Amino acid sequence: MSAQAASKVEKPTLKDHANFIGGKMRPAADGRTIDVICPSDGQVFATIARSGQADVDAAVRAARVAFDTGAWPRTSATDRGRILARMSELILSERESLARLEAKDVGKIYRSTFSDVTVLARYFEFYAGAADKIGGDVIPLPTGFTAFTIREPLGVVAGILPWNSPTQMFGRVVSPALAMGNTVVLKPAEDACLTVLRLAELAMEAGLPEGALNVVTGYGHEAGAALSAHPAIDFISFTGSPEVGTLVQQAAAANHVGVTLELGGKSPHILFDDADFAAALPIITNSIIVNSGQTCVAGSRLLVQASAIDRVSELFGAHFQGLSTGPHDVECDLGPLINAKQHKRVNSMLSTAIGEGVPVIAEGRIADGSSPDGYFVRPMLLGPVPRQNTIARKEVFGPVLSLLPFTDESDAIALANDTPFGLAAAVWSRDVGRAMRASRQVRAGQVYINGYGAGGGVELPFGGFKKSGHGREKGMEALHEFSATKTVILNHG
Ligand code: NAP
Ligand code: MG
Repeated sequence: MSAQAASKVEKPTLKDHANFIGGKMRPAADGRTIDVICPSDGQVFATIARSGQADVDAAVRAARVAFDTGAWPRTSATDRGRILARMSELILSERESLARLEAKDVGKIYRSTFSDVTVLARYFEFYAGAADKIGGDVIPLPTGFTAFTIREPLGVVAGILPWNSPTQMFGRVVSPALAMGNTVVLKPAEDACLTVLRLAELAMEAGLPEGALNVVTGYGHEAGAALSAHPAIDFISFTGSPEVGTLVQQAAAANHVGVTLELGGKSPHILFDDADFAAALPIITNSIIVNSGQTCVAGSRLLVQASAIDRVSELFGAHFQGLSTGPHDVECDLGPLINAKQHKRVNSMLSTAIGEGVPVIAEGRIADGSSPDGYFVRPMLLGPVPRQNTIARKEVFGPVLSLLPFTDESDAIALANDTPFGLAAAVWSRDVGRAMRASRQVRAGQVYINGYGAGGGVELPFGGFKKSGHGREKGMEALHEFSATKTVILNHG
């Protein structure tokens, strides 16, 4: 059944979701909605508000009032931390239902959304503890003066979120922004709003004052553009495509507000011939199949020392053949892609590469009984991929791993750095010196040695070099991004 037909048949029983503004659920001012589609079967099961300028104005006004005259920025850092800690507990108490909702909404397998929600709770726990640990400096001056610094909140933070991990992204942006006393307006991706809306309600239950956190749903070119260009916001946190990142930064420039951009990557695994291949195999595979390759840090390039290429192709090939893609609520290795557009885009990149002669080493399968209307793509291992082929350089955002051979250490570094991106990387070797040298020379915001990922990485500063963007999220650095230094100089004679 097509999405449109499903929409006609099922509409009366759909669950309608409104915006969350000033502590209340409010439909779009003009009543418009967008259908919410489950990626596993292409069927409509809910609606969200299709917000326009009036809705964004209302949300920014609520956040503005909450910042300028409300309680949140005037609450002590310790008490802000207590409310964030309560939020973490509430998230854990609803972990299963949040994970189920997210799985249905974005098509991720339940195991993966359960882990995302656990990481989300950890974000709130971490920033709850960090909220009152940000101090300032006392600056030496001539006798008669005392100067010190304080970190102040920026004001109204606009968060434009992608669809690939809405719960984790909620944690990444909202918990540090709130910890520093900012107020927030979120515009989640139209394909990934349901958990974000529920989390906004939970935040109120945790004790967040009205207006401190608002959510407007809708299309990027409407609600997203209106939010990023809004004259009453003070900062933008954006994660998404490089193209929209440019638009968001232009909008920020027009209002002279700061912006962090996280624009994805083409992250390499550098596998030297002395590495522990058996240990590397599941970790490297997971880094490209988790969320069906739709993660900014997908380990999408496997750079292999030429002397080991046959062994690695055989080992990884056998593993890829055993992988299965299926619906979010079935025990599979990966779920469908998010929507029809991404499905078409990934398939088209794959068929272009294969048409250009890129060999397929192995591919997984689509689980029996999967709906023909779901957005499934088999996991693919390609190689050897020519270095200049588009699939080796452009972000695919699908479960596609490109294997590229290198000769020696310096060739490996040159190859690792030979894309416009610089988000994450991994070096695999038993030679500590070689691994350390490589880690220092790779241009990436995070470099793992003999691993990839460390839990949710909440504690670890994260962000890009080069075209992967700028600014740092996560860890204590996020608290600096979401605040500004005020210097107080006392002339006491
Ligand atoms: P996208 O268009 O950049 O979407 C990211 C966010 O920006 C969404 O909330 C989107 O809203 C919003 N947006 C879109 N146009 C906007 C505008 N003119 N002004 C302000 N906000 C706007 O990404 P996409 O089209 O969903 O995905 C395309 C590609 O981007 C992917 O294939 C992938 O390569 C990359 N991507 C990267 C990441 C990452 O984690 N770095 C995440 C997602 C996508 P709507 O979705 O509601 O339109
Ligand atoms: Mg959806």
